[in-house]
Amino acid sequence: MEGISPDQESVGSGTKRSSVSSGGRHRNQKEFLRRFMDSEILTANLEDWFDTISENSASDMFDVPFELVELQQFDYALEGVSFQQLVRMPSAVYASTSDAVEATAYLAIEDFLHAGVKGLWETFWSEGEPLPFYVSCLYNENMKFYQAERAITNGKLGGLRATAVLLKNARHPHGRWDEVLVLALLRPDIGNLASESARFPPISIMGEALYFAIRILLSRSISRTGFSLKSSPVFVLLVDSQYGGVVKVEGDVQKLDFDVNNVYECAAEWIKSHSRIAISPVDRIWNKLGNANWGDIGALQVLFATFHSLMQFAGVPKHSIEDLAADHGSRLQARRIERLLADTRINGNSLFRFQQQSGSPEIVEVPDESNKMEPDELMKLEVGSVLWLEDSNWQKGYQINEVLTDGELPYYVASSVEDPGKALFLYVGARPSQLEPAWEDMNLWYQVQRQTKVLTIMKQKGLSSKYLPQLSSSGRIIHPGPCQRPDAGGNCDHPWCGTPILVTSPVGEPVADMVRSGRFGSDEAIKCCHDCLSALATAASAGIRHGDLRPENVICVTSGVRHPYFVLIGWGHAVLEERDRPAMNLHFSSTYALQEGKLCSASDAESLVYMLYFSSGGDLPNLDSVEGAFQWRETSWSKRLIQQKLGDISAVLKAFADYVDSLCGTPYPMDCDIWLRRLRRHIHEEEHGKEVDTSG
Ligand SMILES: [Zn+2]
Repeated sequence: MEGISPDQESVGSGTKRSSVSSGGRHRNQKEFLRRFMDSEILTANLEDWFDTISENSASDMFDVPFELVELQQFDYALEGVSFQQLVRMPSAVYASTSDAVEATAYLAIEDFLHAGVKGLWETFWSEGEPLPFYVSCLYNENMKFYQAERAITNGKLGGLRATAVLLKNARHPHGRWDEVLVLALLRPDIGNLASESARFPPISIMGEALYFAIRILLSRSISRTGFSLKSSPVFVLLVDSQYGGVVKVEGDVQKLDFDVNNVYECAAEWIKSHSRIAISPVDRIWNKLGNANWGDIGALQVLFATFHSLMQFAGVPKHSIEDLAADHGSRLQARRIERLLADTRINGNSLFRFQQQSGSPEIVEVPDESNKMEPDELMKLEVGSVLWLEDSNWQKGYQINEVLTDGELPYYVASSVEDPGKALFLYVGARPSQLEPAWEDMNLWYQVQRQTKVLTIMKQKGLSSKYLPQLSSSGRIIHPGPCQRPDAGGNCDHPWCGTPILVTSPVGEPVADMVRSGRFGSDEAIKCCHDCLSALATAASAGIRHGDLRPENVICVTSGVRHPYFVLIGWGHAVLEERDRPAMNLHFSSTYALQEGKLCSASDAESLVYMLYFSSGGDLPNLDSVEGAFQWRETSWSKRLIQQKLGDISAVLKAFADYVDSLCGTPYPMDCDIWLRRLRRHIHEEEHGKEVDTSG
């Protein structure tokens, strides 16, 4: 308490007598709470009441805290929110009673609640404000809260009893009961309720849940901080290592008879006569691997209870559930389109084809079984599909010949209907209005819109190199059916309307595929190094850096040429100006890019060295963090592992790696010309001087 005496409190208020009595009542309640320490005695006092419940059906007596339709709406609102659980829940299947497993379970539940609270706060409330809540474990001996890791290191594991979300309060590092938002009890066998479809938890656990609920309600009731709401419900979460459910308790604790000599009977009486209790069904939260299934009913119930608890302290959220859920429809549609695009390689069944009527530019959808499905939702491109593009009032048709992937997204080898002999790359974007900050869509945007911009700038600046891709055409897709797009611009209601398309040349095989099938040898490595460096040098002359150099973004052109050559594609992440950020790739990004989120002069060359190293059989490390990626780079360079590996291929590649190593992270410009000359000398030895390459 903040040391306000009853006398101070009475200043300016009614009669002194009544204020003293309220102060006395307050002291009484504090004393009541101090003596209310043992959940087992409360449980014993509720035994007969529990018996009557088991005789009747619990579902008749208790309501559920949340309706399914509410949970569904909440689920829609949370679409795209990524809750990140770092500590896995140990599996019940293999669980022993060992301390290590129990300790991990406490760490996992703490981590789970933290991930939930953080995700909810950032989605609904925060506008850059830091999280005002924290998660901590209740230590039974002194009823104080400690971080699980701390408690476990200090040998308190055996005394841990619950995990709570609390309001941050620097003056009370071990928590205050009136600042507990929500409390979770980790008890084995909660999941049995799910399999037995019984609603009422075991009496011992239910007694404990009610005990904690009363404790929190009472603490809030006598609290004088501004945070607590006297009548708010308290949510207690019941979880085991796989399942979970929610108990909600509310009621006016002022109706409790505060007989300090009879605390448990009084509390039991209040439960029976004055409380309202709701119990949710128990559902699965963690899968067998110990990862939370955030979208499942079990996890949603727990999250929704947490959401309501946060609201008691943080007020009405800035973004309502309804508003966030309203975007569900368009997101669903975008995702379906995406999924269909991604599925085209697997499913050969034709659902979407265009056919050009003779002599007419009009496009007609061929009637087939696709009519059974919602035609709106399908955008299926497969081998044989023809797609039409509007490019500055010209209509161009492209037939899909092959479906490829850049590692994440599909793209296509297509041929122009007017000039079927020439193969082209075709990229299909997302409809602009359906863009959302999900990664898939951002990647699609980089692949199509951003890359179109970069290639257009290259064209405008007159950059020409056979090692750079050429923009063939770009524009909007022409969708089947009438287009009712407004004259002022924008799109009509058709789900493909406005979908951007990019067409480039030349076409070739990604280095990633060559490596996979063992066709990337030492000759290829030297040639690849030369050609990519040449492309980088040409782009850099116009201030453009690539920023996403990896084996999927380098192709080998073999068709119609005497000597195969490599082209650096995938320019969507290119850095044109200071504020542009390169792509992040734990294996291929340069050290400077990982560290600063920017590129320096040697960054692309550094990525090129990594690509050559991995493509030539260098061990691909298992990297899952930026720290790990730094570590790998530091060790590999300092032990000269990269130089050694490249030295096995060719002395010039080894020397090149040494040069790049000396430049990494420095502001010094890279001298490409020297290296292009040296590399060319090696290539010409291989090719017996048949082709004099002057374009580098
Ligand atoms: Zn349209």
